[in-house]
Parts: sequence; structure tokens; C-alpha cells
Amino acid sequence: MNRVLIIEDEGAIAELERDYLTLSGYEVVVESDGVAGKERALSEEFDMILLDLMLPGEDGFSILEAIRQNRQVPVMLISAKKDDIDKIRGLGLGADDYLTKPFSPSELVARVRAHIDRYKRLTSMVPEDIPANRAKPGEISIRQLLIKKPLHEVYVDGKKVSLSVKEYELLLKLASRPGEPLTKEELFESLWDKNNIGDIKTVAVHIKRLREKIEKDPSSPEYIETVWGQGYRIKV
Ligand code: CA
Repeated sequence: MNRVLIIEDEGAIAELERDYLTLSGYEVVVESDGVAGKERALSEEFDMILLDLMLPGEDGFSILEAIRQNRQVPVMLISAKKDDIDKIRGLGLGADDYLTKPFSPSELVARVRAHIDRYKRLTSMVPEDIPANRAKPGEISIRQLLIKKPLHEVYVDGKKVSLSVKEYELLLKLASRPGEPLTKEELFESLWDKNNIGDIKTVAVHIKRLREKIEKDPSSPEYIETVWGQGYRIKV
């Protein structure tokens, strides 16, 4: 059974989320305090985390940061203020989705289902067509960058890098067509649902985060190259 962690201090909202998700067949765990929620997120396996931003103990922004350093699980931020969405985007914290209160519970369930399905598909990907570079089946290797598709893992210089689902999808998309520039529009359309709140700027924010994680010097990238007027490509 898929497990969802809800970190939410407003009892009525936590209850609403829990009831709808339980009815939809998910196993749900609720934490109402930021510190306890973070500990739980980092010590147990979940398939999705719903994270409120304003929490006692520790706020959602810093909890998300901690989760992202260690885990690839999809995270949906739940915010009381529309203004927060701009802040979330600006920070490029690596959330997979956002919802503002009040939200429709069926919308919440639909999004949770879509994220979990996508996460499962990624983590169980089967080897398919591999570009050159002497990679083993199911792997893409570009110089010191190695993507193990069946395991959903990325290594740079032999060291494992922890990426969010979106960062991983973005890297995989680019690395599947090495040397070929992909436009922001193309990347946005293939990786983000149209219903998402995000816009095209999301692509640049994710590219930036990805570079910070895989490039020795993000300001002079070896792997993800900006092709002016065209988009991004993986240098081969
Ligand atoms: Ca709250």
C-alpha cells in the first residue's frame, strides 16, 4: 500500500486530507509538528509527502530543504497564502507541486495519485534504447556522469547525487538526446502537467538546481549547456 505523510498543524485540514486519501486507498501518517514531521520524513519510507508551510517547531521551507538533501520522494507544499507560491518558485526548493488553501479534496487526491504513479514509473523504469558512450543496458554515461535508469540513480565522479523527481526527469530527458538542444517550452510541456501552477520559469529554476548538484562549477557547466536562443543540451 502506498504511504503518504501529512505534516500539517491545522487539525481540520489534516483530517480532511487523511480521510480522503484513506478512502482512496492510501496508508496515511499525520504529524502536526514541524520537528517531529521532519524526523519522520527522513527516517521512514513514504511515496508522497504533503507539507504545510507554517508549522510549529520548524517551517515547511526548511523541512523541504532537509528532505531534498536525502530523499527523492515527491513533495507537495500546502500553503495558506497565494504569496507563498512566488516565494516557493523563487527559492527553487525542489517541491514537486503546490496547493493553496482552501483546495478541493478531490483535486488533492488526483494530484497525489498522479505524483505517486509518476514516481513509481520512474523508479521501476526498464532499460530501453541507450545512446552510445559504452554504457551498460539501462545506463546513460556521459564522461563522469552516470545515470542508472532502472535504479533511478545518478552518479558524478562515482559519487551518488540526490535529485528530486523533477530534477531527475529533466536530466534524463536531456541525457536521452545528448548534444541536441531542447527548448524550455519543450521541457516544460513534457515534464510538467498543464494543470500545475508552475510556469515556464520553473524550467530555469530546476536547471539551476540540477547544475548545483551535478556540476563542479555551476557557472561554467560541463554537462548542461545553455544554447542561447534555443534552450539547453547535454554536452557530449
Ligand atoms: Ca499551518
